[in-house]
Amino acid sequence: MTFNVKSLASTQFHPSWFEGYRHVYPVVSRRANGVSLGVNLSPTKLCNFRCVYCQVERGEGRAEIERAVATTDPERASSLDVIRRKPDLCACRVDLDVLAAELTRLARATLDGELFRVERFADVEPSKRVLRDFAFSGDGEPTLAPQFPEAVARLVEVRKNLNQDDVKLVLITNATRLTRPEIVEALDQFNAANGEIWTKLDAGDAERFKSVDRAAIPFGRIVENIEFAAKRWRVKIQTALFSQRGAAPTAAEFEQYCRRLREILDAGGRIESTQLYTIARVPAEPDVAPLTDEEMDGYAATLKRETGLPVEVFYSR
Ligand code: SF4
Repeated sequence: MTFNVKSLASTQFHPSWFEGYRHVYPVVSRRANGVSLGVNLSPTKLCNFRCVYCQVERGEGRAEIERAVATTDPERASSLDVIRRKPDLCACRVDLDVLAAELTRLARATLDGELFRVERFADVEPSKRVLRDFAFSGDGEPTLAPQFPEAVARLVEVRKNLNQDDVKLVLITNATRLTRPEIVEALDQFNAANGEIWTKLDAGDAERFKSVDRAAIPFGRIVENIEFAAKRWRVKIQTALFSQRGAAPTAAEFEQYCRRLREILDAGGRIESTQLYTIARVPAEPDVAPLTDEEMDGYAATLKRETGLPVEVFYSR
């Protein structure tokens, strides 16, 4: 399935750049139901997953990034690994002062309505012209950035300076590094500031995990990390559902996925909700396609019945 980027609605067009900005970009987010200011800590576009459905535009640099990911130890991967290989270090560095200044500027522009004078945001309906969250997301796994702990502190500080306690802090993560000591310390701070961790779980078994997320880290480690996080912090689960070469996840695969969530709950983990979403933008692999609304509703009903968890569904439009 192919998409014409220009024909996508504003909620579906999420470039991780904004005119002249390096680290912060505004999106009208379906999940946030308003404006989310994305914080991109991955100027190298490094990720330790290579999800088949990834909707990050890696363009020309994709082959180089994939080579870097393939040769990076998944346990220790850090943006530094890639930065060291790059001749232009400035282009790779996260400048926290720039980040804080951009976040402050875009937050103010959203609050006073200036943002909606920009052509791309001019048709946003009034109910969505609300600043909902600051979200670590962007072009790769945010916790890979060596400055992640300092960036957490900066987000908390910017929100405090703006006097906007209702603006949520969100970390969108693939769970690979949630138990590393420096990340735990940062996320304790994040949690104390009412931050929410939205962690990816795309599979219920190692085989599907390998085929969907194409990561070298063992699947069991991902589940352990999510269990650790769910016992310690506020956690939501995000799961991508789609068809590949015309095949949607089988009932047996989805049952395994529900079982993993039940195991996390049985072990004492607290999961606030689950978010099932399908493809809304251009995926990494051309044979990946969105599911229909009916298919999504079917998975949601099963998930609710099998786990008792609240389920939010995000369709392809
Ligand atoms: S974890 Fe996120 S950024 Fe990384 S490949 Fe998967 S979808 Fe893309």
